[in-house]
Amino acid sequence: MRRAVLILTALLLLFSVSGCARQEKTAEFFAMDTYMTIRAYGGGEAVSEAERLIFKLEKKLSVTDPESEMSRLNNMGEAELSDEAAELIGEALRICGLTGGALDISVYPAVKAWGFTTGEYRVPKDGELSELLKVVDYRNIKIEGNFVRLGEGMLLDLGAVAKGYAGDATAALLRDRGVGSALLNLGGNVQCLGGKPDGSAWKIGVQDPKGRGYIGVLECRDKAVVTSGGYERYFEEDGATYWHVIDPSTCRPADSGLISVTVVGESGLFCDGLSTALFVMGKEKAAALWRETGGFEAIFVSENGDISVTEGLAESFAPSEGRTVSEVIRRDEN
Ligand code: ADP
Ligand code: MG
Repeated sequence: MRRAVLILTALLLLFSVSGCARQEKTAEFFAMDTYMTIRAYGGGEAVSEAERLIFKLEKKLSVTDPESEMSRLNNMGEAELSDEAAELIGEALRICGLTGGALDISVYPAVKAWGFTTGEYRVPKDGELSELLKVVDYRNIKIEGNFVRLGEGMLLDLGAVAKGYAGDATAALLRDRGVGSALLNLGGNVQCLGGKPDGSAWKIGVQDPKGRGYIGVLECRDKAVVTSGGYERYFEEDGATYWHVIDPSTCRPADSGLISVTVVGESGLFCDGLSTALFVMGKEKAAALWRETGGFEAIFVSENGDISVTEGLAESFAPSEGRTVSEVIRRDEN
């Protein structure tokens, strides 16, 4: 009897210790101009640390904060930056190159001209657009160590990549603090660490760009899932819709036949940069880049609502009821 009690006590103790290690901690807050949530299992105070880290990065990277490093760079045309900002710009420039300038972190003057920074939306005249084109070219950003210099009249904006970078930094911090299972949602940039606490995969809803629901659910572990869509910030004028992702080659809102692109991969920064770029490039060019470089998978939603997925997601993406995948994009085109 005494032995049974002892075993029971030991079991209870073990249960409560493991329960403690897996205790759910959550944080919900508004940062980087969007609503964010972090859910992690174990890791003690790691979630509060992660929240502080995101606010710290926001202070450095936000272009709308006049005190930020990015504002200093934009005002002065050159600046010695922190390791984080320099690392992010260096990596973003690599993606600008990889996508042939579909991602261009110097597109900010155009973003401003269309009113996306203030909400005072307007359609710039052709003459104004051709002036803007002269100052939008990532190849005129020079970076040496942490020193960055911009060409005449240029302005940088890390809005297309900052949340992805923050996601990577947060995931790394949580992992470092011993968290084996976590889900971050940084305003549509989802990153998961490990699987769910019960060992199964995380199930991530992919937002329907035309409605409130999901087009489907993606099963993942240790992945970033980042969506860029026309629905996030836009305005309508004279029957046309203008959204906040700009095609740097025209300085007009992207018009590629897509209404959303979701990119799945290891790195939040890479997926964030690519989701913006692929939205600009359109499905055919995006598929060609996927075949050439790999390292990511994608889900495309076209204007008519058709869903296409790259073959690496054919198993893990389940369309919602009433929806189907119209095309699986294969590596081998035939
Ligand atoms: P969201 O921030 O809504 O998740 P994105 O990651 O696609 O969406 O980033 C869009 C933001 O990036 C815009 O608000 C703008 O500041 C900037 N941007 C728009 N078009 C481009 C582009 N082609 N290249 C780089 N940055 C862009
Ligand atoms: Mg992006």
